[in-house]
Amino acid sequence: MPTEKKHINIVWFKRDLRLQENEAVFNALKSDEPVLLLYVFEQLLIDDNHYSQRHWDFIKQSLVDLNEQLEPYNSKVLVVHSDIIAAVNQLLNKYHITDLYSHQETGILVSYERDKSFTRFCKNNLIDWHESINNGVQRGLKNRDQWIEKCNAYFEIEPLPFNPKKGQLLSIEEVDQLATVFTIPSLKTDLDTPFQKGGRTTGLKYLDSFLEKRYENYMFHISKPELARTGCSRISPYIAWGNLSIREVYHRAYHLKKTTANKKPLEAFMSRLRWQSHFIQKFEMEHTMEEASINKGFQKLKKEISIQYQDAWKNGQTGFPLIDACMRCLNETGYLNFRMRALVVSFFTHNLWQPWQEATTHLSQMFLDFEPGIHFPQLQMQAGETGTNTLRIYNPIKNSYEHDPKGTFIKKWVPEVQDLELRFVHEPYLMTEMEQGFNDFKLGVDYPFPIVDIDETRRKASDTLWNLRKNKVVKRESERILKKHSLPNRKFS
Ligand SMILES: Cc1cc2nc3c(=O)[nH]c(=O)nc-3n(C[C@H](O)[C@H](O)[C@H](O)COP(=O)(O)OP(=O)(O)OC[C@H]3O[C@@H](n4cnc5c(N)ncnc54)[C@H](O)[C@@H]3O)c2cc1C
Repeated sequence: MPTEKKHINIVWFKRDLRLQENEAVFNALKSDEPVLLLYVFEQLLIDDNHYSQRHWDFIKQSLVDLNEQLEPYNSKVLVVHSDIIAAVNQLLNKYHITDLYSHQETGILVSYERDKSFTRFCKNNLIDWHESINNGVQRGLKNRDQWIEKCNAYFEIEPLPFNPKKGQLLSIEEVDQLATVFTIPSLKTDLDTPFQKGGRTTGLKYLDSFLEKRYENYMFHISKPELARTGCSRISPYIAWGNLSIREVYHRAYHLKKTTANKKPLEAFMSRLRWQSHFIQKFEMEHTMEEASINKGFQKLKKEISIQYQDAWKNGQTGFPLIDACMRCLNETGYLNFRMRALVVSFFTHNLWQPWQEATTHLSQMFLDFEPGIHFPQLQMQAGETGTNTLRIYNPIKNSYEHDPKGTFIKKWVPEVQDLELRFVHEPYLMTEMEQGFNDFKLGVDYPFPIVDIDETRRKASDTLWNLRKNKVVKRESERILKKHSLPNRKFS
């Protein structure tokens, strides 16, 4: 006689690597059924060139942290190297599974396709897949008419607790036993790196220290490449990988705002938390943005690809010290503040006149906080290809003097120029032959000549893009975009 299979529910962790304020976990724990917590390192994402080792390490550190939090419950996450269908299929050999919980994912094309296949798989296997809303992003919207109300309603809900019933989570022994039929990846990572360490415990430390003190200088430091590293919250990777939820962060800031006299920086911070949802919502409703400009009128813009320019940009060898400092710093630490991200994209798309698509994978691999729903819309916005936003071409020299006036950031990342007179730190190419001799510094040898003429390339990009904005397809598309994505009473999207 075959024995009856044990009934369990599953929580499939995606970009929501936390136990508290996790609606998928919360809903799974509502019933009395045993619950298995599952994370799958999926080959289709490992192979995807938007991701890099720094992301997988951050996830591994988050899982180690989750397991530490699960110890008091004598449980752990089943972490496997597989694909989700194969993993659940394997689990079906042993268990009766009727309900699976996760968050909706506004991801790249491969994860969208995977979700469609998994929906079919669940239907065929009589599994109800319950997907919770993530970060206030609504699925299936045609426009933003009701979005703000729905998003507000999401943000108003009190953060959800984590309260499993005794013995409800599968025990460590049972999970270890299960692991024997799977390929199990090692969760060991090198912790001695300049990257922010993954996991809720560290994420909360960043949030606590920001709301205790650091927020006070938020508005003064937000655009400065060096000062923003401590003056901004630095919670973005913890939000992107779900160690923290945007709603719990919003609640913490909201409560502090009620008691502090210094409300302005908190208001600015909270509105950025809302931008997070706004951008991801746009990507949710316009997923082709991963590959093509949202404004179809810009899709006929042809730019000649230069691998030489692209390599110089990637490696911080353009001859513009602020650009080079930003790229080298990003490559090494995984972080840049908003303005510097906008600046390097503007330089790539306008001054080097390269298609924004050519910048996406390098940047997504380098940004520890890679979030597709912000990444692609921001790239297109900074490339001036939406038709609905003001065209901004950042001047790397002006930004250098304004936001790094003493050259602190540049000197740290471009040591070749650190001993030069301050004006040459910003503009080494201004040195005459004689001045180069006095400084024992040779342009083109110690540091590159600028690879483009900044004024000429800016003029060309500006003329071309402004001209295109008069094109009737661009205009028609701009109207469509405004209608679909802008909030009622707003004239931008
Ligand atoms: C080309 C480009 C690509 C970007 N790619 C990403 C990305 O992949 N992931 C990502 O999280 N952010 C991205 N951003 C937005 C922004 O630069 C980062 O969110 C911010 O610098 C993270 O630092 P912080 O946590 O200290 O931010 P804070 O200033 O402390 O802001 C708090 C939080 O608000 C949200 N936020 C802040 N600014 C923005 C913004 N402009 N749009 C949407 N949400 C925002 C983020 O969740 C952030 O963690 C991108 C910006 C540009 C110009």
